[in-house]
Amino acid sequence: MVKLFASSLTILVVSLALVKAQEPIVVANYPKPNAVPPINSPEVIAWLKEIDLTGAPDLPLHKGDPPSCPNPPIPNECYWTCEGCAADDIVSCTRPNTWGLTFDDGPSDATPTLLNYLNGAKLSATFFLIGSNVIQYPDTVKRELAEGHHLASHTWSHHALTTLSNEQIVAEMKWTEKAVMAATGLRMKYMRPPYGDINNRVRFVLKKLGYIPVDWTGDEFDTNDWQMPDTMTEAQVIATFTKSLDAYSGPNGNRTRGFYCLEHDLNTLTVGAAQKLIPLGQQRNITFANVAQCESDAAPYQSGGTTPMPSTSATATSAPSASGTSTATASGKGPATTSADKTAGASLVAASSVFTLAVAAVAGLIVA
Ligand SMILES: [Zn+2]
Repeated sequence: MVKLFASSLTILVVSLALVKAQEPIVVANYPKPNAVPPINSPEVIAWLKEIDLTGAPDLPLHKGDPPSCPNPPIPNECYWTCEGCAADDIVSCTRPNTWGLTFDDGPSDATPTLLNYLNGAKLSATFFLIGSNVIQYPDTVKRELAEGHHLASHTWSHHALTTLSNEQIVAEMKWTEKAVMAATGLRMKYMRPPYGDINNRVRFVLKKLGYIPVDWTGDEFDTNDWQMPDTMTEAQVIATFTKSLDAYSGPNGNRTRGFYCLEHDLNTLTVGAAQKLIPLGQQRNITFANVAQCESDAAPYQSGGTTPMPSTSATATSAPSASGTSTATASGKGPATTSADKTAGASLVAASSVFTLAVAAVAGLIVA
């Protein structure tokens, strides 16, 4: 009991340190949303000075967003989307019979609905965040953290990284990192390349920045939710993914490792589909985990996140954040401002967020 108290005290001290590290997000101090940030800004120049990019593989930049595959393939590129070459990227979950739950491209207006659902289902996911969206919805990011989810990067502007220079990749990653640190005090450690577009040059730069790429477990685990409504209906998305789940959980499926699939909290359609896809996994007795849990990573952030991620069962303990959440959600819909009211509100939400996280983490220690 004394040990447990000491653990919780440590976590609370760390949590308070996190609160202190947070700062209000001033949108005007960030690059233009959804565009590749310039590399001649004082911030990017300073970030580039911190890392040594000499020795980066000399590969030609691709064109297109996403780019088409080079024909013939370029030697030593190890291009995941075109060659299925993953190098040391993470492509599957180390836990058997597990659905590595990830959502890309948020936060968005639709994210709170997904969070409500995940809370009710007692599930914890990894959110691959777009920096341009983080500065628009910082309170939604705080809510994700408070409700026991794991935060990871999906770049600033969602451009295919093999089309960008090394310096532009640094700018994409570091601006997103800065935004999430401002919102939560955490420096992210995992990232997913937009479109899964990654080769050895991109990997080199990401590694210099301390990031671990997480792709997904092949085409059959792309839910194709992003194809709605243009090229697929919801019924088609569900029917296609049902086949993948049947293959995985059937007599010939290899369930010794879990899978990461591609899902999005992009809009009401993708969030609606998620609420129909997840029960299909539950019906097949597949368990769910976020990336930190899949990788058994007790330190799933580069800094500020020594707290273990809550397990699925611990998330249940942290669920009562619903009342604190409604405030966060309501103010999360508009662009961030620096008004005294919102700043105070944000700090309060942040404080309650980390406290909830600490409580959840302690609960995690109990059940672990
Ligand atoms: Zn994406």
